[in-house]
Amino acid sequence: MPKPADKPQGLIDPFGRHISYVRLSLTDKCNFRCFYCMPKGFRDFEEPENWLTFDEIERVMRAFAGLGVSRIRMTGGEPLVRKNLPELAQRLTALPGVQDLSVSTNAALLENHAQALAEAGVSRINVSLDSLRSERFADITGGGSLQTVINGLLAAKKAGLRPIKINMVALQGINDDEFVDMVNFCLQHEFTLRFIEAMPVGVSGRDASSHYMDLAQVRTELEQHFDLSPGVMPGGGPARYLRVGGSDLNIGFITPISQHFCETCNRVRLSVDGTLYLCLGQENRFELRPLLRQGIRDDELQAVLRKALALKPERHDFNENPERIVRIMSMTGG
Ligand code: SAM
Ligand code: SF4
Repeated sequence: MPKPADKPQGLIDPFGRHISYVRLSLTDKCNFRCFYCMPKGFRDFEEPENWLTFDEIERVMRAFAGLGVSRIRMTGGEPLVRKNLPELAQRLTALPGVQDLSVSTNAALLENHAQALAEAGVSRINVSLDSLRSERFADITGGGSLQTVINGLLAAKKAGLRPIKINMVALQGINDDEFVDMVNFCLQHEFTLRFIEAMPVGVSGRDASSHYMDLAQVRTELEQHFDLSPGVMPGGGPARYLRVGGSDLNIGFITPISQHFCETCNRVRLSVDGTLYLCLGQENRFELRPLLRQGIRDDELQAVLRKALALKPERHDFNENPERIVRIMSMTGG
């Protein structure tokens, strides 16, 4: 039994931030092609032999959990296109120290998977939804069906996943006439709503940038229709929340561009090929797959994770260097 003084310390980065959250990308593939995320015709996907297996993912996440990581989000690409996701969910929720397993999804396949995910221990779910108009939705997502997504959301609600958070990227000239409608939709269904600023990521960066909106504009518009006061959301992450008067609806504003929140960053990202990305907006990374396949021991793996954390940069520089990141969002899971 280790004495308290010998207990391994948590993961603290060079800027004193405690890392407690891993975003786990389970595939770089997707059944949608949101124009701001994945360029049309993009085919440069990772080879299946380079995907971390469920055993490898479990090993890495066990090592992270042993270092104090308590929250995991399964993302992608579209995580539900990875086969047997509920099996992985079950393995991750069983890890000692993991208190919260969530999923980010476009919900196209959610209707058939919501119940199994809930039974596997997934507690909550984030769903991307940028428009409530079928044609526009198909246009933004490269052919997605709005009705299928709504069916997925209703199945998630029925399966007891809570909270269900809707993520809407605010896009000037595309969905900027739908913010009030989306608030009303979330009020009706008791979903949480979060607006996100478009980030200039990867080859699609130019497209995302040309529709960028400062969320201060969204807030100003909503204030004309709703009584908004400061709100809170447990585990709210980087969003700043406002509550709609007379309801339980919290609206989050995620502002990586206009007001970055790097000083409170608590996360790292593991991509499907086993690359650990230390920041969404920088190239700092550490390759874990070769070490896993060379038979690294568990104690060595934890030491390696600590070493990798020393590479975490202080902040992104999307504003200063918008063209710098060459990888696309679906590789690192947003
Ligand atoms: N496919 C899942 C989904 O859409 O929720 C999970 C992966 S997706 C990359 C995660 C989040 O990143 C989504 O909410 C999406 O809207 C967001 N995202 C993708 N590209 C973005 C960009 N250029 N700027 C801001 N958010 C972006
Ligand atoms: Fe796919 Fe999500 Fe990217 Fe849209 S945002 S293309 S759903 S990974």
